Amino acid sequence: MLKIENLTKTYATGDKALSDVSLNIERGQVVGLIGPSGAGKSTLIRCINRLVAPTDGKVLLNDVDLVALSAKNLRRERRRIGMIFQEYALVERLTVMENVLSGRLGYVSFWRSFLRKFPAQDIQRAYALLDRVGLLAHADKRADALSGGQRQRVGIARALSQEPDVLLIDEPTASLDPKTSRQIMRLLTEICQERNLPAIINIHDVPLAKQFMQRIIGLRQGEVVFDGLPSELDENV
Ligand code: ADP
Ligand code: ADP
Repeated sequence: MLKIENLTKTYATGDKALSDVSLNIERGQVVGLIGPSGAGKSTLIRCINRLVAPTDGKVLLNDVDLVALSAKNLRRERRRIGMIFQEYALVERLTVMENVLSGRLGYVSFWRSFLRKFPAQDIQRAYALLDRVGLLAHADKRADALSGGQRQRVGIARALSQEPDVLLIDEPTASLDPKTSRQIMRLLTEICQERNLPAIINIHDVPLAKQFMQRIIGLRQGEVVFDGLPSELDENV
């Protein structure tokens, strides 16, 4: 499914952010990335979606190496990667529904006139996603009228609307209170299991990771120092 082989990233500044990282992530598996600040978690996520160009190694999504793709092919393949962000990255003055539909545009064009022309089938699917994340009644509200937890639910529905093969999730609960954080983590893990979607979650909250992740990967100074079940994680990783 998602296979990372010998991934290395050295920034132009000389910072070695990732050093020979190899991982294999199966369908439906929800993997939590933990590690201290500067460990390379964001760099790993950015190398997978190619916001950052790796120095060396491969990122294979369904056997296609994203690292080796031309810009044009990369654009196409990136649509198979669903992103969910810490600060939601919604378009505030668009409605919930419009934000969800914008996932099908690849986060680039957000024009209302364009959104109105979506095929009925896309609209139907967006309503089904809003129903799944518990926001059907809020479909026509503006994004900026929602609470943090609701906004993250929109972020989840938007990522799913592009029908991704993998989800990359960057600190999804960092701006949420503990109760809402647990609700969001539960929703994310249930959805990944239902859809057999693999996910990598950059998660700074270790107790939350232990409660919800099926597998935890610990990074330190760009290297994998732990890879196993949450129950096997000892506190000093
Ligand atoms: P995070 O919460 O991911 O640890 P940081 O505060 O480390 O975020 O980084 C914020 C932004 O600054 C990111 O875009 C990151 O890529 C960039 N950044 C981090 N370290 C450096 C650095 N040494 N030089 C240049 N940019 C950096
Ligand atoms: P984490 O997400 O675990 O906090 P990062 O991937 O942000 O770690 O950072 C890993 C290392 O790479 C750090 O040493 C950081 O300073 C460095 N780094 C991150 N982004 C950049 C950047 N854009 N330019 C230079 N160095 C960076």
